[in-house]
This record gives sequence, C-alpha cells and structure tokens, in this order.
Amino acid sequence: MSNKFIGGGAEKLLEIVKIKPIMLEFFKKRRDKTVIKSEIIISDFNITVLRKDIKNLHLNVLPPDGKVRVSAPRRMDDRSVRFFLISKLPWIEKQVNRFKERPIETPKEYISGESHFFKGERYLLNVIEYRGKPYITINDKKNIDFYVRKDADLEEKKKVFLLWQKEELAKELFGIFNKWQKIMGVSAEEWRIKRMKTKWGTCNTTAKRIWINLELVKRPVYCIEYIVVHELAHLIERNHNKRFMAVMDKFAPQWRSYKKELNGF
Ligand SMILES: [Zn+2]
Repeated sequence: MSNKFIGGGAEKLLEIVKIKPIMLEFFKKRRDKTVIKSEIIISDFNITVLRKDIKNLHLNVLPPDGKVRVSAPRRMDDRSVRFFLISKLPWIEKQVNRFKERPIETPKEYISGESHFFKGERYLLNVIEYRGKPYITINDKKNIDFYVRKDADLEEKKKVFLLWQKEELAKELFGIFNKWQKIMGVSAEEWRIKRMKTKWGTCNTTAKRIWINLELVKRPVYCIEYIVVHELAHLIERNHNKRFMAVMDKFAPQWRSYKKELNGF
C-alpha cells in the first residue's frame, strides 16, 4: 500500500465529513412554508393566530381597521400564545384605539366639492361636463378637474379616476425606482401597482417583482420613496431582521418616522 493511496482515501473521508454539515444546512433552509391559521378571543379582541416556522412571536395591529394578528412559532401551544397576548393587552388596546380614532374614509362619489388626497395634499374635485374621452388634470394646486360626460355613472367615474391615480403613481415611481436602484445597487425585474388592503408594498425576492399599493398616490412623495426603498432592501435581505434594518438605516435613516406616518400614528 503506497502512502499516496492512503492519502487519497483520507481525503475522501474528509470530503464526506465536510458534506454532512452542508446537507444539514440545506435541509434547515428548506423551511416549511405552510401557515396554520386559528383564532383566539381575549377580552373584546378576535385575534388571528398564524403558526409558522419562526423563532419568536410577532404581534401586529393592521391597517385599515386595527385587526390584531400574532405570528407564533409552530410548536408553541395556545396557552403560551394566550399568556403572551394577555401581557401585551394594554399595548393592543392602545394601538386598536388609534385605528378607531382615525376617520374612516367614506366611499367616494366623484362629485364637485369632494376632497381627495394626492401626493400628501388635499384637493377639491371639480366635475366638469365634457363630451369627449374623459380625463383628469390637476389645476392650480387646489383642484382636481375631472372632465367627464354628464350621464357617466359612479362605476365609470371610479374607473377613470383609479386609472388616473395609477398613471400618476407610475410616473412618480419611474423616477423613484431609477434613483434608488442606482443608489442601492440592486434592481427589480419588474414593478407593478395594485390595490392592496393590508400592505403598502410587497417584494417577491425570487422573481425580483415588486408590487406597490395604489393607495400610496395619496401620500407624500417621501412616503412613496420609503416604501420603494423598503421593497428594494428586500433584494439585499429577504427578511425583516437586523441586517434588513441596517440596510434601511443606511439608505433611509428617517424610515421609522415615515413608517409611523404611513400607519397613521
Ligand atoms: Zn418588508
């Protein structure tokens, strides 16, 4: 038996030893993504419990109506979750009340004199009778002029108005995405706009696809920018962990105040 042969065998053995921990890591990373949903009632609150592959409890009070949601580690029993929620009850009550105090947005009728927010400013709507293709323009920083047929119904007006909002937001987003992708050194494969109920934006990190909530068109431009930076930051770090916060601190040091402003407190 030559030394060379023994050496080769030992190397192979080492290779096997090396592979093992890597395999373990691989299996660890393949997280179970199924989420189990249940409800817990505590005092007057109907709290949604989501069980996921996470290490810590996460408590959220969600816009627009202050729904309470807790994400819990998969193996944590109901009793422990309940205990945690009871300990957080004063905080939950405070947050939920803040949502209740906020004026609920009444459905729009698209009539003259109605107020509409646009990029953080309040405008009054002017509905102007017009026989051609309907269109909307901003007039002198105070009014939104809505040119539309006299007999157009609510649905029709709403459709035109939402399309206008979408185009205006898209114009703003072109500039913002260009600017921040350069600064942050990342780029999204695509970004789109849609109406969402509970989120200002989402980022699919695998497809590098970002969705922006149409509602943002009503908010100040710096809030729109903050959301874009947040979603682009997910292309650097997928999860909302310390590394993610560090990315946010680097590119948008004021992000905490924008977040508060967006969520209404
Ligand atoms: Zn996020």
